[in-house]
Amino acid sequence: TSFGFTSVGEGQKQALVDDVFHKVAERYDLMNDLMSGGMHRVWKDAFVSWLAPPRGSARNWRLLDVAGGTGDIATQVVRRSDETVSAVVCDINNSMLEVGRERADKNGLSALIEFTQGNAEDLPFPDRSFDAYTIAFGIRNVPDIPKALREARRVLKRGGRFLCLEFSDVDVPGLDRVYDAFSFNVIPPMGRWVTGDGDPYQYLVESIRKFPHQERFADMIREAGFENVSYRNYSGGIAAAHSGWKF
Ligand code: SAM
Repeated sequence: TSFGFTSVGEGQKQALVDDVFHKVAERYDLMNDLMSGGMHRVWKDAFVSWLAPPRGSARNWRLLDVAGGTGDIATQVVRRSDETVSAVVCDINNSMLEVGRERADKNGLSALIEFTQGNAEDLPFPDRSFDAYTIAFGIRNVPDIPKALREARRVLKRGGRFLCLEFSDVDVPGLDRVYDAFSFNVIPPMGRWVTGDGDPYQYLVESIRKFPHQERFADMIREAGFENVSYRNYSGGIAAAHSGWKF
């Protein structure tokens, strides 16, 4: 069964994405570990290292983590820093945010991480409010990506940093075929096995296929007005991080 994402309009796409994450919220963290063989932790770790949140800075530094889900990026960022660094996790889906809130409480981090419902295409924050904007495995789900990129720029302060982590194009011969076979034949059945429903994972695999190549996505970030745009591949391009600055 396929989600048939090729034929749906933008409004419908968001509704389907919302449905996917309502269904998987409770098991989202477990599924991430299973499906990536723990690799998502390594990528997120490298990603946060590239962001390099300040330590011992004289002023408060604020991160906005969009499509932040259960708060993996925000958690790593505040853990690596001190209390001058805080984060807002913004996600369209309350089920994901609820899991994140509980986890932040459990980790004693709720004073440093705030959870706010909102749409990446229309962020509920004033202009120039954040020092950094991150979006990890989220932008692929947003129907109007150029709009989300313009919003990212709007809420950043001058000198602010945009960083995006996303599944990307594998550029290692051989690995691409193994990865293709794995994603189409292993991911949906594994999803059905753990959550009782394979459709959300069929969608996941299809949406990864449709996402623009590293170079094309870098151009889209430039088109939104960011400067010094660059990217890094992780695991041969299974994932890639893109960086840009608002000057
Ligand atoms: N960033 C987290 C991580 O890396 O584990 C969660 C990533 S999860 C694959 C994608 C998230 O994007 C979901 O929590 C979903 O609710 C959120 N999302 C989808 N469409 C969105 C939108 N238009 N605005 C904000 N968040 C959205």
